[in-house]
Amino acid sequence: MFTTQIVFVKMLLQVCFSSLHRVLAGALEKAFGWMGISDGGGRARRVAHRSTRESHIKADESEAATPKTPTPTSVNYHFTRQCNYKCGFCFHTAKTSFVLPIEEAKRGLRLLKDAGMEKINFSGGEPFLHEKGEFLGKLVQFCKEDLQLPSVSIVSNGSMIREKWFQKYGEYLDILAISCDSFEEDTNKLIGRTQGRKSHLDNLCKVRNWCREYKVAFKINSVINTFNVDEDMREHILQLCPVRWKVFQCLVIEGENAGENALREAERFVISDQQFQDFLDRHSDIACLVPESNQKMRDSYLILDEYMRFLDCTEGRKDPSKSVLDVGVENAIQFSGFDEKMFLKRGGKYTWSKADMRLEW
Ligand code: SF4
Repeated sequence: MFTTQIVFVKMLLQVCFSSLHRVLAGALEKAFGWMGISDGGGRARRVAHRSTRESHIKADESEAATPKTPTPTSVNYHFTRQCNYKCGFCFHTAKTSFVLPIEEAKRGLRLLKDAGMEKINFSGGEPFLHEKGEFLGKLVQFCKEDLQLPSVSIVSNGSMIREKWFQKYGEYLDILAISCDSFEEDTNKLIGRTQGRKSHLDNLCKVRNWCREYKVAFKINSVINTFNVDEDMREHILQLCPVRWKVFQCLVIEGENAGENALREAERFVISDQQFQDFLDRHSDIACLVPESNQKMRDSYLILDEYMRFLDCTEGRKDPSKSVLDVGVENAIQFSGFDEKMFLKRGGKYTWSKADMRLEW
């Protein structure tokens, strides 16, 4: 009987102690839990700390994985697709006749300037075709006078330029590049770089002289293809004396000059890397020659189309971003496919302001 009583008292005490412990523990948890002093809080704090640290690591990793937004230092604005020539390898063809209203074009150019643009190149199609060059002239003047861009340039086939244009807008233009693939008139005709009976070479010489007269740096662009790959152009280039002679390897772009919906078929113009190299070797003593193979060319240009959408050529076709005018430069440029490293590697940044060229006019 006595033993049973002892056991009963012992059990009673155990129940009391355990209840007391629970009550005390609950009170302490309530009192200090918010401070994270209790074990539960400590555990929560450690978990929180760990997840913060993990999220930092993840943020660092994603920062490293997210490519840096490229700066639109040098932009090519193809504001029109219309052209009076029919070059067989053309890779910016007349798929639309759209041209932005000039105030919208200016708004987009200002956005680009604010995002870091230093050089603008106007191209097409043929940029002197729309409004007989007035639209182009106004944009050239706007970019130099209002935006104060260090470099404003144009790529043209040269056939639509008049002296009056130089008189009005020449002072605002740094560089004028004229496309010429051959110094044999028949070859230009075979390529399609011609209109009717007009002589492409006469136009080229005329424009070259106006550039000298109106103090615009003169440049030549040539596309090397099956029809001109064996030509020796040294004498003519030395005579014309351009500040730069850009020599491109004929490039195939799906949807522009190849494939079902294309307006051109460039396959018959395509040359091999070796043929391109042979052409370069033949002209290696021309100091101003700047070669551009397909590999260098494809992703190293920031191209804006007539709607001010960046065109991504990484997949061998031109995939458009949304328009800079709708989503801003920073957003649109993410979809440009632009390879900034290749841009620098191919010498995309050069002395591009005529004020810095110290040319003898
Ligand atoms: S000149 Fe020739 S390559 Fe240039 S836009 Fe016109 S058709 Fe195309």
